[in-house]
Amino acid sequence: MTLTGARVVDPATGRDGVVNVTVADGVVTAVGDQVEGRRVDLDGLVLAPGLVDLHVHLREPGREDAETVATGTAAAAAGGFTAVCPMANTEPVCDHAGVVEQVLRLARDAGHCDVFPTGAITRGLRGDELAEMGAMAALGVRCFSDDGMPVRSAQVMRRALEYARTWDAIVCNHAEESTLTDGAQMNEGELSTLLGLAGWPAEAEEVMVARDLVLAHGRGARLHVPHVSTAGTVELIRTAKARGTRVTAEAAPHHFTLVDEAVRSYDPVYKVNPPLRGKADVEAVREGLADGTLDAIATDHAPHPPEQKEQEWVHAPPGMLGLETALALTLTELVDGDVLTVGQAVAALSTKPARARDIDGHGGPIAPGAPANLVAFDPAQRWTVDAQVLHSRSRNTPYAGTTLRGRVVHTLLRGRFTYRDGALA
Ligand SMILES: [Zn+2]
Repeated sequence: MTLTGARVVDPATGRDGVVNVTVADGVVTAVGDQVEGRRVDLDGLVLAPGLVDLHVHLREPGREDAETVATGTAAAAAGGFTAVCPMANTEPVCDHAGVVEQVLRLARDAGHCDVFPTGAITRGLRGDELAEMGAMAALGVRCFSDDGMPVRSAQVMRRALEYARTWDAIVCNHAEESTLTDGAQMNEGELSTLLGLAGWPAEAEEVMVARDLVLAHGRGARLHVPHVSTAGTVELIRTAKARGTRVTAEAAPHHFTLVDEAVRSYDPVYKVNPPLRGKADVEAVREGLADGTLDAIATDHAPHPPEQKEQEWVHAPPGMLGLETALALTLTELVDGDVLTVGQAVAALSTKPARARDIDGHGGPIAPGAPANLVAFDPAQRWTVDAQVLHSRSRNTPYAGTTLRGRVVHTLLRGRFTYRDGALA
């Protein structure tokens, strides 16, 4: 099969131009002006390496009422993703080999998207005893995180970094100093005072990130900072990278598109952890993505069923969907806002996250011999988000009714369509 006429944007090779791509037996076999086999016309579309999400919650095992591996990976395929990394806060917790194997098997059976499970740092996410990191690493786990729960003890965090270094694996700590966020409901500021909601201060994130950067630097270990939400965190990471700390970082689309003013509505769809911040923080996150301080855009896709999410603000759990809107939000807000070029956007959504997690075969290059993990999107198409037609089992997106630019047309996993002509294949 030859994909013809698309603008190929491949950060791994620096290619950006119209060229044909031939795919056979799951791999790219030629890039040029050849037409071999069946022709698939992609005129007007961008063809890029399939997107890679470092931070999703697929909820299975345990919370299948919110999402399953099958529905979450279907949403991923619809969003242009060919690889996702589910977090360990399932029930039971992914803190031992059995859950890793279960998630891998469910993903293989569903066949929508490759899944690279993140293992827990500590047993039961309790923050004291280390999880079975070695047994999980033996199954290919490259990153460990108690996401949702911070590792409070510096001693445990230091030990985890040191242990992970044995496999040159990555530790990702949910950056929240919880003594500063007791009962917190939204970003701390004038608005939280006005609304009478307990504030989640920027310092709670920054204190934890500063500690972890010091520990990672001292151990020579790899740290990944999830869902960066404050200007101070961006600056800490920028400084750490300059001094050679082995750190990568991600930002979520809601942290570069929405501000805390949305909380005035008391609509819990805007409740997320870390919370939506002020304009200066949003601006700093955008700058961090532009200058490469923040490597990746990761969704923190966090489905919740309506009976849980649609409660009074203080009782609703934090989190929002992300997989099916991430690409369009990036194009609409960052590319149209002159923050990123299309090439930088693809790098942040695919090439750089794949490298940050050692995921071979994803993120490009689009070159002979490489697995054909690809997304084709229409950069011009405008569409309005309809929560009712999302592939996720849940509906908690704050973007329902929002018109965005850029729509996924096809997603290919090893040369096989997982999403085709705007529908699940
Ligand atoms: Zn988190």
